[in-house]
Amino acid sequence: MKTIRKNNLALLETTVAIVRCPDYNPENLQQAISRLAQLLRLDFSRVNSPILLKPNMLSARSPQEAVTTHPHLLLALGKLLASPILIGDSPANSARPVEDYWQDCGLKEVASRLNARLVKFDQPVFVSLRVKKKLIDVPLAAASQKWPIINLPKLKTHSLTLITAAVKNLYGCIPGFKKSLLHSQFVSPQDFCWLLLELYRKIERNVLLHLVDAITIMDGKGPSAGRVRPGGYLIAGVDGIAVDMVCAELLGLKPVQVPHLHLWNQFYSLPQVTVTGDSLVALRDVDLPGVTFPLQLLKFPFFNQLFSALRPFFSIFPEIDQKSCQQCLACVQVCPVKAILKPPDICLSRCIRCLCCFEVCPYRAIRLRKSFLAKCLT
Ligand code: SF4
Ligand code: SF4
Repeated sequence: MKTIRKNNLALLETTVAIVRCPDYNPENLQQAISRLAQLLRLDFSRVNSPILLKPNMLSARSPQEAVTTHPHLLLALGKLLASPILIGDSPANSARPVEDYWQDCGLKEVASRLNARLVKFDQPVFVSLRVKKKLIDVPLAAASQKWPIINLPKLKTHSLTLITAAVKNLYGCIPGFKKSLLHSQFVSPQDFCWLLLELYRKIERNVLLHLVDAITIMDGKGPSAGRVRPGGYLIAGVDGIAVDMVCAELLGLKPVQVPHLHLWNQFYSLPQVTVTGDSLVALRDVDLPGVTFPLQLLKFPFFNQLFSALRPFFSIFPEIDQKSCQQCLACVQVCPVKAILKPPDICLSRCIRCLCCFEVCPYRAIRLRKSFLAKCLT
């Protein structure tokens, strides 16, 4: 097994460890995490600096809603770490105070029990990324560049990227509204996945471990309005692509069916993954959101261009349910192109289908509608 060195640790490069864990009972969690560490031969006591725990804190929602990483996972992990702990993420809607997210997601209590520091992702440092031959400067939370990270994603389906796990969770290292703005530069799901991958390549040298919370997962209208269901596993590894491949398998998908893994395979080839630990039983009847583009065809430039031209006819677009809308304006604040001026009206000619509004609506008042071609082809 190949190893790489990061922050005084020798890490198994493309090994993914799987451990069954039925619930968020603290004892079960601590046993499961200790076992994962053994399987991966990880000795956290060797880390010689503070560690940043990066959960999914997409929305200010309670842990039971499975939108965010369960706080007990951070608590159990934190108790096994010898180094000082920082906890940070940047939610999708930065217009709301981050303190509300810490409170509602259960992270405030965890931080106090671990004597950890909650950090705001509002101080950016800029990194250069080359995406689609274009050089762009992307702001990243300074904390994510300064400290080694343990990435703690929640496994969910995602209406734009099909699944969200290790790679997608690192997008939260971009502070606040800048995340939404980047959607307007990388509009198609494929281009957006390209951005995700380049960002992953930039951050991953700083990541000690990806530990996916798949104990309860969300399927259907993920990442925020789907169905909560038991997943039963913790999945961990050092290589985010390998970890996402195993997460895809849990959802009954082949890696190449997942847009960012498909793209990675085209650019770099998917890694040979060594799986260790408990056997993985794929979940049955997973409700997948509509696949937004025919992956196999998009590797041909002709179809890629054709898709861009046909995009208005082949897309999923948001629609606000007037009865459910509480006029909280979260969707207005997060829309990168000002397509929502006064809910429930959405200017579809301006909308770039980034689905940020769908992600942040706390009242599930935004539905996704498929265009005629999308209905026919997905
Ligand atoms: S659609 Fe949702 S996010 Fe937008 S104003 Fe209504 S309740 Fe708030
Ligand atoms: S209306 Fe929603 S999907 Fe359309 S651009 Fe704005 S945030 Fe994105």
